[in-house]
Amino acid sequence: MEKMGQYPHRRWNPLRKSWVLVSPHRTQRPWQGEVGQKAAPAEVAYDPQCYLCPGNQRAGGAANPAYEGIFSFINDYSALLPDSPSVMEPLASPLLVAEPARGLCKVLCFHPNHSLTLARMTHPEIRRVVDAWTQEYTELACLDWIEYVQIFENRGAMMGASNPHPHCQIWATGFVPDEPAAETQAQREHLAGTGHCLLCGYLAAEQREQAAEGRIIFENEHFAALVPWWATWPFEVMVVSRRHLGALPELNQEEREALADALKRMTTRFDNLFQTSFPYTMGFHQSPTDSEAHPEWHFHAHFYPPLLRSATVRKFMVGFEMLGMPQRDITPETAAERLRACPEEHR
Ligand SMILES: [Zn+2]
Ligand SMILES: [Zn+2]
Ligand SMILES: [Zn+2]
Repeated sequence: MEKMGQYPHRRWNPLRKSWVLVSPHRTQRPWQGEVGQKAAPAEVAYDPQCYLCPGNQRAGGAANPAYEGIFSFINDYSALLPDSPSVMEPLASPLLVAEPARGLCKVLCFHPNHSLTLARMTHPEIRRVVDAWTQEYTELACLDWIEYVQIFENRGAMMGASNPHPHCQIWATGFVPDEPAAETQAQREHLAGTGHCLLCGYLAAEQREQAAEGRIIFENEHFAALVPWWATWPFEVMVVSRRHLGALPELNQEEREALADALKRMTTRFDNLFQTSFPYTMGFHQSPTDSEAHPEWHFHAHFYPPLLRSATVRKFMVGFEMLGMPQRDITPETAAERLRACPEEHR
């Protein structure tokens, strides 16, 4: 029996019927995020102080190789550990519910150049990142205790990125976290009730509505980028595959190219919207890697950007949003129209 206060675990919230992940060991995490307001890209290609630049020493003591393409490693300050104890001390009430949480947290550097962002990388460079994401997902999915692989990028200090170096994180968990668990449930119920995929149907509806309403920003041969009907953040975007498939390894070579194209075009439009290095959290939702089949799952990416009116005026989800429900001012149709008007060449 181990003391709960020392190891990652998740606690059950019986009011919300949801879990919260607690990582008490993760207190020494270094902070190299910007403290100022406006999100500007880093100006130097190599920063001797950056713990993600090639050849540099990380805060945990390890040194990065002089990498030239993509570089991934286990996060020195992982929120989850593979060897958390499997049994915990008994709790005093059936309302105090917790369970051990195991996982692996990795960092994946997109590029050795400290000053780049996805929007400023070339198409072949982003394609290499797509290949690396696919490989990481495949490798982590092979571990029998991993049930979900969450790939995500926090871009910009406003979104809590602790370092401007172009990178993402990959948290692979021994459980399916609440957001993909809720989407699994919804997609499963829709498939069972209608015999059709929820997101295939949704994308078809958006394509039919496009002339009248216009929430699609652009499409290429294999992906569509749109502001969802139910968007909560002002410029929230989903990138949805046009073919029904559940996860990165199911993309063929052409679709990988198309995903790189969609990501470059979307991030460039975002940067051009307020002439800033646009902050966001972006991540993929895909099939859980538990032992079940997931015919219901439709691969997509979410972009959750915080900006509302300019490079410095952001939307806060506070007050009624915290206590009541999300609220937005500009309509998703207006947001899509403004993103459609942005050029795909970096200004
Ligand atoms: Zn760097
Ligand atoms: Zn589908
Ligand atoms: Zn999703």
